[in-house]
Amino acid sequence: MIQFRDVNKHYGHFHVLKNINLTIEAGEVVVVIGPSGSGKSTLLRCINRLETISGGELTVDQIKVHDKKTDINSLRRNIGMVFQHFNLYPHRTVLENITLAPMKVLGLPRQEAEETALIYLNKVGIPEKAKSYPSQLSGGQQQRVAIARGLAMKPKIMLFDEPTSALDPEMIGEVLDVMRDLAQEGMTMVVVTHEMGFAREVADRIVFMDQGQILETTPPAEFFESPREERARTFLSRVL
Ligand code: ADP
Ligand code: MG
Repeated sequence: MIQFRDVNKHYGHFHVLKNINLTIEAGEVVVVIGPSGSGKSTLLRCINRLETISGGELTVDQIKVHDKKTDINSLRRNIGMVFQHFNLYPHRTVLENITLAPMKVLGLPRQEAEETALIYLNKVGIPEKAKSYPSQLSGGQQQRVAIARGLAMKPKIMLFDEPTSALDPEMIGEVLDVMRDLAQEGMTMVVVTHEMGFAREVADRIVFMDQGQILETTPPAEFFESPREERARTFLSRVL
């Protein structure tokens, strides 16, 4: 579903991604971990071309992301992204936040878009919030709306960049539960998170990054029991 081949990226003179090789199968859940500044967000943002790569090849669902001729909209239509800050439209209701893109981008009639939105609001556990405004919701609820909004586009891939980092501790679980369900249903997911319990339990593979490189790509049991790389051991000793 996603293939990085010798991908490099620079911000000016700064070499942020170094020879990235990574293949993610359909239905796989990959959790990306590593110190702050190691390039995790950049890696994720390259997948939907929020960042352009400076070398190598990146293919997503057979679309050549590195090719300048590629239609970004057709690429992004298949990729949902959830950020640390939920980025909901404050002056629109929850329902409107979710129906906007399906109506505009996919051309769904309002009624169909609303029916779909309610299905996903149910899925994330807050159907009763359809008519509320984002400011009337807790952080955890807002993030669940953001996930529902992503899902309403029926993407093949969901990207999560530290989706629980801005939440109060008591709200982290409800968001991780939604993500766990999604993983179990076979969604292809790439998740940047510091939630090591989630990583260990839900990931098919852990990608450990440091200084722009992928140092390990390992099943979680192995990664958490016996990380091969010294830098991974140091990282784990700090976060666990
Ligand atoms: P992470 O998500 O692992 O914390 P990032 O991908 O956000 O790492 O950033 C990796 C490095 O690239 C950091 O040193 C950061 O300062 C730098 N960086 C990120 N975005 C930009 C940008 N738009 N321009 C220049 N440098 C950037
Ligand atoms: Mg980041």
